Amino acid sequence: MLPFAWHLGHHEASVGLGRGKHASRFGGRVGEMEQRPLFTCSSLSSFKYCPRQYYWGYVRRVRPQLYAPRILLGNAVHEVLERLYVTRSVAAATTTAERHQSVRSAEWWRTTITGYYQTYAREIIDAVDAVVEQEFRIQISSEIDFGGRLDLALGESLLDHKSTGIKDANRWGRNRSWEQLYAYAFALMTEGHTITTLVYNVILAEQKGPKRFLRISRPVDPRELDTIPMRIQACADRILESVEYEAQPGGRCRACFYAPLCDQKMGPDVSDEALLSTGFKCKARQHEELSPGAPHPD
Ligand code: SF4
Repeated sequence: MLPFAWHLGHHEASVGLGRGKHASRFGGRVGEMEQRPLFTCSSLSSFKYCPRQYYWGYVRRVRPQLYAPRILLGNAVHEVLERLYVTRSVAAATTTAERHQSVRSAEWWRTTITGYYQTYAREIIDAVDAVVEQEFRIQISSEIDFGGRLDLALGESLLDHKSTGIKDANRWGRNRSWEQLYAYAFALMTEGHTITTLVYNVILAEQKGPKRFLRISRPVDPRELDTIPMRIQACADRILESVEYEAQPGGRCRACFYAPLCDQKMGPDVSDEALLSTGFKCKARQHEELSPGAPHPD
């Protein structure tokens, strides 16, 4: 069995893992792990889509001043659902949602929280032993660690919360990648949990009534699970060998935080001063403004 630790910490090549409130629940061999680079699903998928995007996000760690509404909604939904599952109280979740009325109206939050509770009341009431918004870090090899933050593990099901402005549930589910859920299931099973089902727990933000709540699930395929460490290692190897972080323009550019930098033909040799002049936050100069748990396009 691989060593496993629920852990706060990050490496230059990782997204920060700083939002956890439950990190002490699991403990583990952390000190040794901090010596190795840590990769996450977000950082690996960012590199796969476009090495230059990875470079901005995880090597230079620049962040936009303002986040897109979809990112803000996603973060707010995670926070409110975390509160709902931890407290099992609609009132507590509603209080948390009050901080996010610039993202969605009080009425939207009221109907979402009460509707969600009515839809999934039994599982929320029974969620006493649920694993909620937990950070984790596991060793993949002698060279790298893999980490992340899982949304919810209920019994043998692993759930990932998603929110979307897309109204058509079928459209949302089409071509959905299950790679992240498999990677998180692998991490949990490394620790000794049993995960048999993967679930996308979706809030269709523009829908009304019960249609706002959607779940798509599939059983865990052990053959798929077995490929996870190899796939993480292969992508991490490409990152560690990368020097140029070449830009790979494509469809993903439309939703990329860093498109203004590409538009201005900025590359890895750009100075911090020039980066700051574009309106991006830059870790090198504004460290205190960078939340380690800052949202990322993935
Ligand atoms: S705008 Fe496109 S090419 Fe530039 S970093 Fe983003 S995804 Fe890559």
